[in-house]
Amino acid sequence: MPLAPGIVDAEDTREVYFAEMISRLEKHTGVENLLSHVDYKRSYCVSNFVQDYNAYKGNAYGLANTLKQTAVLKPSIKNKNIENLLYTGQLTVPGPGVPPSIISGKIVANELKNIKTKNPINKPL
Ligand SMILES: Cc1cc2nc3c(=O)[nH]c(=O)nc-3n(C[C@H](O)[C@H](O)[C@H](O)COP(=O)(O)OP(=O)(O)OC[C@H]3O[C@@H](n4cnc5c(N)ncnc54)[C@H](O)[C@@H]3O)c2cc1C
Repeated sequence: MPLAPGIVDAEDTREVYFAEMISRLEKHTGVENLLSHVDYKRSYCVSNFVQDYNAYKGNAYGLANTLKQTAVLKPSIKNKNIENLLYTGQLTVPGPGVPPSIISGKIVANELKNIKTKNPINKPL
């Protein structure tokens, strides 16, 4: 269930939404007492993303597609203050998803190659 990042993630809130999802599924599929068919249940939410992946505010899906976070307005791969510090992954260009994250890695790898080419090999970047 998609959620906003940084929300309060309490066990009872998870249960409320779980019940809501089950009820909607029952309504849309016409299945009665769906809960009685559940053999295993594991809850994983915002605080788990923080704990397991150090995800910013428990974010799971990258940046929201708002105007200020689109195209060239996404956070840059280059750090503004520290030279030669580059970022890659779903929180920068081209954006969220596995294919864009891999492309992001390729962009940064090429950029690093360019930086290295311009610098003598034994000198630090
Ligand atoms: C439930 C779900 C379903 C998805 N489904 C799809 C899909 O169908 N198709 C698709 O294209 N995309 C999907 N995505 C999105 C996709 O998984 C992400 O966009 C992509 O994995 C982001 O890759 P990344 O390398 O930027 O970050 P991540 O894959 O999050 O990798 C970052 C890594 O850095 C580690 N890390 C964090 N902080 C530190 C630190 N301080 N030191 C060391 N390591 C650290 C984390 O533990 C993690 O292993 C889905 C995401 C979720 C959550």
